[in-house]
Amino acid sequence: MSGTIPLERLRNIGIMAHIDAGKTTTTERILYYTGVNYKIGEVHEGSATMDWMEQEQERGITITSAATTCFWGDYQVNIIDTPGHVDFTIEVERSLRVLDGAVGVFCAVGGVEPQSETVWRQADRYKVPRIAFVNKMDRVGADFANVVGMIEDRLGHKAVRLQLPIGAEEDFQGVVDLVKMKAIIWQNEDLGAKFELVDIPADLQDEADAAREELLESVAENDEDLMNAYLENGDLSEEELVRGIRLSTIGMHIVPVLCGTAFKNKGVQPLLDAVVAYLPSPIDIGDVIGFDVDSNDEMRRKPNTESPLSAIAFKIQTDPFVGQLAYVRVYSGSLDSSSYILNAASGNKERVGRVLRMHANKREEVDSLPTGEIGAIVGLKNVVTGDTLCDPKEPILLEKMDFPDPVISVAIEPKTKADHEKLSTALAKLAVEDPSFRVRVDHETGQTIISGMGELHLEIIVDRLFREFKVEANVGAPQVAYRETITKPAQGVEHKYIKQTGGRGQYGHVVIDLEPLAPEEAETEGDEPEAVFLFENKISGGSIPREYIPAVEKGIREAMDNGVLAGYPLVGVKATLHDGSFHEVDSSEMAFKICASMAFKKGAVQAGAILMEPVMKVEVVVPEDFMGDVIGDLNSRRGRVQGMGVRGNAQVVSAEVPLSQMFGYATDLRSMTQGRASYTMQFDKYDPVPNNVAQEIIAKSAGKVTEEA
Ligand code: GDP
Repeated sequence: MSGTIPLERLRNIGIMAHIDAGKTTTTERILYYTGVNYKIGEVHEGSATMDWMEQEQERGITITSAATTCFWGDYQVNIIDTPGHVDFTIEVERSLRVLDGAVGVFCAVGGVEPQSETVWRQADRYKVPRIAFVNKMDRVGADFANVVGMIEDRLGHKAVRLQLPIGAEEDFQGVVDLVKMKAIIWQNEDLGAKFELVDIPADLQDEADAAREELLESVAENDEDLMNAYLENGDLSEEELVRGIRLSTIGMHIVPVLCGTAFKNKGVQPLLDAVVAYLPSPIDIGDVIGFDVDSNDEMRRKPNTESPLSAIAFKIQTDPFVGQLAYVRVYSGSLDSSSYILNAASGNKERVGRVLRMHANKREEVDSLPTGEIGAIVGLKNVVTGDTLCDPKEPILLEKMDFPDPVISVAIEPKTKADHEKLSTALAKLAVEDPSFRVRVDHETGQTIISGMGELHLEIIVDRLFREFKVEANVGAPQVAYRETITKPAQGVEHKYIKQTGGRGQYGHVVIDLEPLAPEEAETEGDEPEAVFLFENKISGGSIPREYIPAVEKGIREAMDNGVLAGYPLVGVKATLHDGSFHEVDSSEMAFKICASMAFKKGAVQAGAILMEPVMKVEVVVPEDFMGDVIGDLNSRRGRVQGMGVRGNAQVVSAEVPLSQMFGYATDLRSMTQGRASYTMQFDKYDPVPNNVAQEIIAKSAGKVTEEA
C-alpha cells in the first residue's frame, strides 16, 4: 500500500467551509466511499472520524487540521482538514500553506456565509485552485442557482456549473452531469448509495443544453486549441472538455460547481471524480520557492524525488501513544525514516524516527515519504509549527508563516502546587503545537495569563488543559489584551531603596532615563510584547558594580510585565541606566532589582504612560435598507468607518472598531438587520484607549486588586 504513486496521481486537498455547511459529513462520506471507513460516524452522534479530539466531538466542529490519506481509483488523495471558525485562522493558514487544491463546501440554503468568505479570501491569497460543492440539496429552501450566484457576487470567482440538480428539497434525486450529458440518479438514500446513469429527464433538457453551452464557452476561452476546436465543431469531446475544465480550474479562471447531499449519500462519488480530474497534482504547482539560509536569496527546487529534501512541519501534535507527532508536507526529495535532517529555522540537526502515513483512524509506518506527500514523523525534539526541514547538506528555508498578535486573554489559577507544575508543562507542550497563543505570569497576582486569537481559541486551550493534561484551575472571564506604553521621555528618574531592620540591610540606588521606543528599534525575542524593550548601561566609574547591572535590567523587565496603570504589559520602552550608588555590605542583586523596578514604575508615570487596545478591521456586508443602522451602531461602538462599497446587491461597510466593543456583535447585528447582514473581523493594530475609557479600565483594575486583597 505504501508503494509510491506517480506524482501526477497525487492530490493534496483541503475541504473548506463555514461551520455547519457539512464539511465533516462530506469528509466522512469521502472516507467511506474510498474504503477507509466501514462504519460511518455521524456528526450528531459525535463519532466522526476526523473529529477525533473530544472537544471537537462535543462542539461538533472541526478544529485541528488532521491529515488523512485515502485512495480513489488510481489516485491517492490526502485530505488536510481545514477549520471553519475565524478564531482558528492560523490553522487555516497552516493548512492552506501545504495543500494544492481545495473543495469549498457550501450549504444550499445558507450559501456563502461570512466565514466561508474569510477562508475563501485566504485561499485566494495562497492561490489555491478550488471546486465548489453545494451540499444539503435535500433541505427545505435549497437553491442551487442562488448559491452559484453568490459565489460569483460575493467571492468574485467565475462559478461554472458542472451539474444541474434533479429535483430539490425532499425530491432531490440526483444530478445532470454536463460533461457526459447524462443524468445520475441515486436509487435510495442509504450508504450503499447505488446510482444509475440514465438519459437526461425531458423537462431538464433545455436547461442542460444551455448550461453546457455556458460551460463550453467558459473553458474554451482559456485555451487557444480548445477555442479553435469549439469554434469549428460547436462542441468539445469529453476528453477535450475535461482537459479544459482542468486547466481553467488550475489557472484559477473558473470554479467548477457540483451539488448533492452528503448526509443522504448523493453526489459524493462524482465529487471525488472531480477532485482527481480537476484539482492540481504537486507537479502542476511547479517549483518550490525558498530562501538561502545565509543570504536570504531566493532558491528554487524541482518537485521531484531526485532533488534534495525540503519539507514543512505544518502541525505539531502531542499524541498519547507516540509522543510528539510532526505533520509534514514534503516539497522535494524524500523524507526517510532514521535519516538526519536540518531544521533550517532553528539550525538544529535532528534524527527522524519513524515516518507515518496517517489515515483517519490508523497509522501506517512507511520507510519514506516522497515528494508531494503528506504524513507525520515521530522523534523530532525541537520542532515548531512552520519550521522547514531539509537536507543538512543543502539548506533551504521555505517561506515562513506569520502569526498575528493575540488579542484576548484569560487568567488561570492552578488549584494546588501540583497543578501549578502540570500547568507549566502543559502550556509548554501546547505552545509548540500552536504558536498563535502566548503565556505570561502576572508577578503581582501570580496568575498565569494566556492570550489568543479569539474567545473560542482560548476556550479550547483551557478545555484541553483540563481534560488532556488534567490540570485543576480557576479560569477568569476573557479579557481584551490591553497593553501599556509611554508617550514621552522621562529623564533622570532616581530611586533609592534602603531598608535597615536589624541584621543585614538592603541598599540600591539607580538613576534611569526612559524613552518611547519605535517597534523597529526594539530587540524582540519571539514577539513577546514584554520583549519590546531596549536596555542600555551607561554607568561609568563604578558607581554601580557590574555584577548588579543584570539585576537592574531584570527589575525593569518585571515591572514592565505588569505595567503601571492597570496591570497590562507595558511595551515600547528604551531604558538607560546612567547613575546610582551602592553600599559595601547592604547592596545585593535583590536590592537592585527591587530598586530598579520601583524606579521604573515612577518613571513610567512621568513618561506619560497610556493604555493601548487592540483595534479590529471589521467588514459588514449588509442590504442597503439596513446600512444606516449598521453605520450608526458601529459609530456608537467607537468605530471609525473607513469605506463603503457595493458587492452584488449588498453594501459593504469597512470600519476600524476596538475589540472591547465587539463582544456580542454577532447577536446585535442579527437583530438589527433581521439576520440579513454578515461580518468578518480581524486584528489590525494597537491604538491608544481614549482617556475617559482608560480611566474606567484603570478604576476597574484597581477595584479588582482591592477585592482580591
Ligand atoms: P461542518 O460544521 O461543516 O463540519 O458540518 P457537519 O458535517 O458537522 O454538518 C452540520 C450539520 O448538518 C450536521 O447535523 C449534519 O448532519 C447536517 N448535514 C450535513 N450534510 C447535510 C446534508 O447534505 N443534508 C442535510 N439535511 N443535513 C446535512
